[in-house]
Amino acid sequence: MLSDQYYMELAIALARQGVEGGHGGPFGAVVVKEGEVIGQGHNSVLSKADPTAHAEVVAIREACSNLGHFQLEGCTLYTSCEPCPMCLGAIYWARPARVVYACTRGDAKEAGFDDDFIYQELELPLSARSIPMEQQGRAEALQAMQAWKEKEDKTPY
Ligand SMILES: [Zn+2]
Repeated sequence: MLSDQYYMELAIALARQGVEGGHGGPFGAVVVKEGEVIGQGHNSVLSKADPTAHAEVVAIREACSNLGHFQLEGCTLYTSCEPCPMCLGAIYWARPARVVYACTRGDAKEAGFDDDFIYQELELPLSARSIPMEQQGRAEALQAMQAWKEKEDKTPY
């Protein structure tokens, strides 16, 4: 079995490739299952014009596609930087066994990536956040919720 350091070096190499290729910010990630890299990626926000194309999301999508499953059971995700709130959410949905990170969110902030701002927003009530959120159509939407609750052949996740 190769070491954490080996896989982290892969993630960091991806981060550098992403910067050098002009794909996006300096972030890389790999997903490893039983010693095998099953997903990898670097930030591709610029090249894909996709604000969700963070390294972790790209790597999780590839890993889940390769597994043919929506969970990363028993996997380790290596990321060159502490995940932003969006990626942290994706990580919790994908449920890997472990996350190993290198740079901190403070390091990202110093490079101009203010993940910390989103963390601060999460602590505010909805009405105080910088992007307004308004509630509408709950009664109709609850019908879809009810359909899920009553669906007998569903796959819970
Ligand atoms: Zn992210």
